[in-house]
Amino acid sequence: MPTTPSDARCLACQRGSHDTPLIRLEYLDKPYWICPQHLPILIHDPARLTGTLPGAERLEPAEHHD
Ligand SMILES: [Zn+2]
Repeated sequence: MPTTPSDARCLACQRGSHDTPLIRLEYLDKPYWICPQHLPILIHDPARLTGTLPGAERLEPAEHHD
């Protein structure tokens, strides 16, 4: 069954597109959504999404530039 945009929820905070802009991603052939507030987690600390995003523990955090 296709997931409709109205089912879209942020991976981290579960807010829908009525509450926040959502960015759609695709991982392991499945669609996911994340809001701009939590996008940095996916980029810098994807392990925090373990349990929410299946396979998140396999993601490498992006390099920090400090
Ligand atoms: Zn969020």
